[in-house]
Amino acid sequence: MTKTYSLTLTIKRYDPDRSARWFQTYRLDSGPILRFVDLFRRINVEQDATLAWASSCEHAQCGSCSVNVNGRPMLACELLVENAVTLFGTTVFKIAPVSVAPVIRDLVVDWEKAYERVHRAKPYLIKPKELPPGMTEHRISPQELARYEEATRCINCFCCAEACISGNRTFIGPNAAMAGIVRMMDSREKEKEERLDLLYSEEGIYRCHTSKACSHVCPKQIDVAHFIALAKEGAF
Ligand code: SF4
Ligand code: SF4
Repeated sequence: MTKTYSLTLTIKRYDPDRSARWFQTYRLDSGPILRFVDLFRRINVEQDATLAWASSCEHAQCGSCSVNVNGRPMLACELLVENAVTLFGTTVFKIAPVSVAPVIRDLVVDWEKAYERVHRAKPYLIKPKELPPGMTEHRISPQELARYEEATRCINCFCCAEACISGNRTFIGPNAAMAGIVRMMDSREKEKEERLDLLYSEEGIYRCHTSKACSHVCPKQIDVAHFIALAKEGAF
């Protein structure tokens, strides 16, 4: 027989029309394999249509459902009830929006604001190398790609930035730093100086304490701190 969990979800609410903030508790019974986005949806249907939350792909590929669950940034679309109970050893969960961007309403944040950091890191080739004669594409060897392939799994969910323990408010943050670092490692990129200027600037990688909190929470198992450590050594 399928196990049923009696869950308590205390969710941080924000109503911009009244400038009101409060915690609201919802109780619901759930099977083991509902995801937290499913719980939010059930709350909307069964208890409170006003609870606002965000998701898009619901396949852990867009990062729009990142929230803090019991203080840990996670993707609500891939957090199963039974896994959450095992991870936290409780059926009581406190859920809050991420703090890397202004809250629009309840669990919904302004992702455009969060993305400003990533845009500053220019997550694309600024000045691509010319194509070799007669070629229509660049070839990257498996050995070269292996050095940074892990980083290409990044979905910019900002869980790492949320967990980051760097106390410096100007730090560009782990995922944005990594976006610049991998382009430094990409042999097709010719614009290295501009990238170095940002990485070694006041908001750059020396604001990182190599705590690995970022790597610990990454839902894509990317060792973000490793890439930052490489950059600190100039090992691009
Ligand atoms: S490195 Fe991981 S935690 Fe950070 S934004 Fe990318 S996927 Fe999310
Ligand atoms: S290793 Fe650096 S980037 Fe990662 S959480 Fe610690 S201070 Fe932040």
